[in-house]
Amino acid sequence: MSCGRYAPSPTGELHLGNLRTALVAWLSARSAGGGFLLRVEDLDPDRSRQEWVEVQLGELETLGLDWDGRPLFQSDRLGPYGDALDLLRDRGLIYECFCTRKEIREAASAPHDPLLPENAYTGACLGLSSAERARLVAEGRRPALRVRAEAARVAFTDGVHGEVEGLVDDFVVCRSDGVFAYNLAVTVDDADQSVTEVVRGDDLLDSTPRQIWLYRQLGLTEPQSWYHLPLMYGEDGARLAKRHGGSTLEERLAAGETVPELLGTLASGLGLSPGGQPVTVDELAETFTWEAVVAASRSR
Ligand code: GLU
Repeated sequence: MSCGRYAPSPTGELHLGNLRTALVAWLSARSAGGGFLLRVEDLDPDRSRQEWVEVQLGELETLGLDWDGRPLFQSDRLGPYGDALDLLRDRGLIYECFCTRKEIREAASAPHDPLLPENAYTGACLGLSSAERARLVAEGRRPALRVRAEAARVAFTDGVHGEVEGLVDDFVVCRSDGVFAYNLAVTVDDADQSVTEVVRGDDLLDSTPRQIWLYRQLGLTEPQSWYHLPLMYGEDGARLAKRHGGSTLEERLAAGETVPELLGTLASGLGLSPGGQPVTVDELAETFTWEAVVAASRSR
């Protein structure tokens, strides 16, 4: 059976862009009679708050979205992430990186292969000897763990962007504070949850080659389809965020808009309801097609 998912990070209210992604992920899964899962990506202890989990789940429910079973919390899954890390380490695919944020930023701004992600790591710590590593540890520096990906070339088909190709950089799988990084956790979870279809914002398009590389190194089954939706932008041209007024569900409802009206507006932007008239998620599921969403996102 096909299975989709939505995986918010509980760092604040969901804004309309997040809700739109959740809506499309749900419509795609449910209109095909597939499963739909919710995963709380709460690994970052500095940014994640339990209170936002309740707020976000409430927002999704208010829209009319549902999911199978209980949400999965990444903070409950440190064991499987550790196992995956061990497997990579056993295969000689992990190395310690002592670079500071500043060093990484400076190295990333140097010209590099355009197929590498924008923030690609250029491997400065790859050649450290064990004596150099020991000296840095003795100085009190704590390493992040990176994969040795050797700029592997990964191609995949994205339902919105078409054929995508990227080179995999030596991305972080475990931060220097011991927190497992997004790409490792998301891959292990999507595989363990038998997710067949990933729908998310296209700010993560660059990360997909990294994740596909991880699936292959870890011997996991890859999702069958990937869809990276264009982000929503505020009137100032910046990526939609809470500071843009009227960008949260709460604000829209407080201003007198009803849920069906809001869904009509979102659906209209997605090419799913040209007139933008009030609609429910179940009505949208009856007529949902990816062709309409793709045509609308290309014309934007
Ligand atoms: N937790 C990520 C976010 O909120 C989404 C990850 C994903 O869908 O793969 O941006």
